[in-house]
Amino acid sequence: MKILVLNAGSSSLKYQLFQMESSEVLAKGTCERIGAGGFITHKRGGKSYTEEVDFPNHGVALKKVLSLLSSKEYGVIASIAEIDAVGHRVAHGGEMLKESSVITESVIKYLETIVPINPLHGPPAIAGIKACFALMPGVPQVAVFDTSFYSTVEASKYVYALPYEFYENDKIRRYGFHGTSHRYVSAKLAEVLGKPIEDLKIITCHLGNGSSITAVQGGKAIDTSMGFTPQEGVVMGTRVGSLDPTVVTYLMKTKGYSAQEVEDILNKKSGLLGVSGISNDLRNVVDEANKGNKRARLAIDVLITSIKRLIGAYTAEMNGLDAIVFTAGIGENQYNIREMVCGNMSYLGIEIDTEKNASFTRGIPFDITKEGAKVSTWIIPTDEEYMIAIDTQRLASK
Ligand code: ADP
Repeated sequence: MKILVLNAGSSSLKYQLFQMESSEVLAKGTCERIGAGGFITHKRGGKSYTEEVDFPNHGVALKKVLSLLSSKEYGVIASIAEIDAVGHRVAHGGEMLKESSVITESVIKYLETIVPINPLHGPPAIAGIKACFALMPGVPQVAVFDTSFYSTVEASKYVYALPYEFYENDKIRRYGFHGTSHRYVSAKLAEVLGKPIEDLKIITCHLGNGSSITAVQGGKAIDTSMGFTPQEGVVMGTRVGSLDPTVVTYLMKTKGYSAQEVEDILNKKSGLLGVSGISNDLRNVVDEANKGNKRARLAIDVLITSIKRLIGAYTAEMNGLDAIVFTAGIGENQYNIREMVCGNMSYLGIEIDTEKNASFTRGIPFDITKEGAKVSTWIIPTDEEYMIAIDTQRLASK
C-alpha cells in the first residue's frame, strides 16, 4: 500500500510518500513560498532536486508534487493511481473530531466552522484537502489531528478559570498540540523499554522551534503544556510560552499596541529570540552564551526553567514518573539542554549519564539513563509523518 502524507502550512506543503509494507519513504519534499512565488525541493533515493515554480495556491503546489512523484526522471511511481490513500496533518480537530477520521463533506464543514479558533493552520489544511479531492477523486483521505491525542484529558486540566460561558459559547479552552508526536514517542518508548504502556507514567518533551510537554499515563495523555493555541507552556524559538495575561492588556493600554501588534510580539518576537536578541535558533544562542553573552545565557536559563517547572508539575499530577523522552530538533540534538533540564532533579529520580548523553547516536532511540536511576531517560526521534501514514492505512483499509 502506498500512502501520501501531506502537511500544509500557511505558505508551504510538505509531503512524504510511504510504501507501508516496508515502512519505506519512497520520496519526500517541500513546496515553499506558496502564494508568493515558490519553489519545490524533492528528494528521492538520496538525491535532491530543486525547481522554482510559481505556486499561486496549495492546489497548484499539489499538482506539481503529483507530477514529480510520477515523472520519468524524478518519480517513484508510474502514475498517481498507485497512491492508495492520502493522510493529512491537521493541527486542530476542535472538540468534535476526537480521533483520526476519514474525510467526508461533513468533516470539511466542521473544520471550516473552527477556522476562527485555528486561523493560521485551518485554511491551508482545508485547501490541501480540497485540492486532493479535486486531483485524486475516489482516493480515501484521512485527517490526523494534533489535538486528538488530548481527547482523554479531563475537564479539570483543560478548562480555563474564565467565566464558564467563554468555554460553552466560544470554545475557549485548552486543546493541546503536537499530539501526533507525543503519541508516537510515548508508544515507541514503551516498545524499546519492553513494557506495556498501560503500566507507565511518561513525560514527553517535544522541544523544537515550537515546543510542548505532555504527561502520558497508561498510554493516555492526561495533561499537556500547549493550550487554546500553540502559544502556552514552554518558552519557544519566538513564542513567549506561558505569560500573565495582564501583560497583554498592559501593553495595549500603555503603548497603544493593537491586538495584532501584541500577538506578533508574543508569537514572533519573544521566546529565545526575544530574550537573547540574537536568534530563535538555539544553536546560535548557545554559541553566543558560550562566548560570554549574558542575555544569551539568560534566554537559555529561562527556557530550562520553563521545562523543569512542567516536569515537576506533571510528576505531581501523575503521582510519580517512570520515564522522560526528549524529541524534536532541540530534544534530539542538543545534549547540553538535556543535561541542564535533567540536572538537579535527583529528588524526582531523574539522573542521566552525562557521557552517554553527550555521545548519543543520532536518529535512533537512545537510552541516556544513569545506572541505578529511578526514572528512565531516552532520546527518541519523532516521526509524525509515519504515525499519520499508519493511521491512514488503518482507516483507509476499513
Ligand atoms: P520545528 O518546531 O520548526 O519543526 P525543529 O524541531 O527543527 O523545529 O527544531 C528547531 C530547533 O532545533 C532549533 O532551535 C535548533 O537549534 C535545534 N536543532 C535542530 N537541528 C539541530 C542539530 N542538528 N543540532 C543542534 N540543534 C538542532
